[in-house]
Amino acid sequence: MTTFAAAADASTEILAAIRALQAHDLPTRGGHTLAYVYDSGVPGLDELAAAAYASAMHANALDPTAFPSLPAMEGDLVATAASLLGGGPETVGTVTAGGTESCMLAVAAARDARGDIEHPRMVIASSAHAAFHKAAHYFGVAIDMVDVNPVTLRADAGAMAAAIGPDTVLVVASAPSYAHGVIDPIPEIAAAAATRGVRCHVDACIGGWILGSWRRFGIRPGNREVPPFDLSVPGVTSLSVDLHKYAYTPKGASVLLHANAELRAAQYFVHTNWPGYAMLNTTLQSTRSGGPIAAAWAVAKRLGDKGYRDIAERTADAVTRIRAGIADISGLRVLAEPDATLIALAATDDGPNVFAIADEMAARGYYIQPQFAFRGAPATLHITITAANAGNETELVGALADSAAAAAAQPEPSFPPEVVETVMAADLSTPEQLAAAAGPLGLLGEGGALALPARMAPINALLDALPSVVREQVLRGVLSMLTRPGTDLLAR
Ligand SMILES: *Cc1c(COP(=O)(O)O)cnc(C)c1O
Repeated sequence: MTTFAAAADASTEILAAIRALQAHDLPTRGGHTLAYVYDSGVPGLDELAAAAYASAMHANALDPTAFPSLPAMEGDLVATAASLLGGGPETVGTVTAGGTESCMLAVAAARDARGDIEHPRMVIASSAHAAFHKAAHYFGVAIDMVDVNPVTLRADAGAMAAAIGPDTVLVVASAPSYAHGVIDPIPEIAAAAATRGVRCHVDACIGGWILGSWRRFGIRPGNREVPPFDLSVPGVTSLSVDLHKYAYTPKGASVLLHANAELRAAQYFVHTNWPGYAMLNTTLQSTRSGGPIAAAWAVAKRLGDKGYRDIAERTADAVTRIRAGIADISGLRVLAEPDATLIALAATDDGPNVFAIADEMAARGYYIQPQFAFRGAPATLHITITAANAGNETELVGALADSAAAAAAQPEPSFPPEVVETVMAADLSTPEQLAAAAGPLGLLGEGGALALPARMAPINALLDALPSVVREQVLRGVLSMLTRPGTDLLAR
């Protein structure tokens, strides 16, 4: 009896300890965190997802014959995504752990289907998600990056067509792009790829579910039609759509669709030439938790057409209202007219520093994501609008207006020139050197651990000014410092 009671107490304490650690996290619910998280605002949905997740979290999709419930649920999710996104009777797909994995698998399949090409390449717009650079890095596929149209920020279909060469195994387009929220001219890009016999992947990781819902239910924010973007477009051979974004499922679920099974074949990894089990992998993972699959299945089933229609309508209203509200804020402008639910905000010519606005928003309880200047596009603030933003658009727009005004009253964020010189001159390749550079930047807390200041604008402005190679080296070091071992959980 006592042991049982002690164990129960321990669990309560442990959960309280987790909550204490989470006190410094951004809120995942309530629409104040405008990147990273998705909130449907539907009561009871999280509880259902948690129960479904728990019921399957120890099941392993590594062996579909051992846990047939998982391929059954996976098949339903793929069929649902295919029906929303222009799939036909031949369409097949896979549930992956996330958008990056879906994009990486599309690249891997395209490369491996063309074993005859010694040095494979892919054509992507400069607005393509970093996941494709990651795929290029891991899989040895060279990138031909084509600048977007400088005004619309959409991919330049003509320039992409011209970049296709004999070694091109894949052409990539976005619906929409993460950074700027615009949809590429997919019919033109896919047609150019098809003409050359090359695969065309549509990265609809973030936009697929909401755009498909808008189209299915005749929702037209800003009175605009959703442009053709999915598998129904001739020449599109694969498409990725994340469930853990606008399908509002717990993290760890995305779908990669292929137009037919032949196109998918090279995605699989099957190995039997070792003394263990036959390793049959559809994704990069091998052991694959059933948790995200069951949770996604439960959420999709519970929301259904009616639930997703409701959410899609509310989200469209929120985007329209927030877009209209921003137009009245002095010093801010939308970088491109949003085609979906993402807004990139830039400063007007005489407007305040955007990184200072992000700090001011943080002080008002909102997280908005800073984005660095890139190839002619200025630094921006990224806003991902979800259903949870519906009904409180005025507060959000008000906070943005106040933040812009407060930022405008401040001096341009910067460090004294001698600090910048010291940091720039340092060789940042070891943790010690990095720690030495972090001091003058005000990034060291108690005991020499990395501690981020409340105001990040000077740091962001400094990073923004660095060439990306140097910036990446600095951030690599910061990442290493942030993930230092702390308490040994087994010590007692
Ligand atoms: C989010 C996103 C990805 C990557 O998805 P993760 O789930 O974060 O790995 C890829 N492409 C686009 C357009 C995205 O928005």
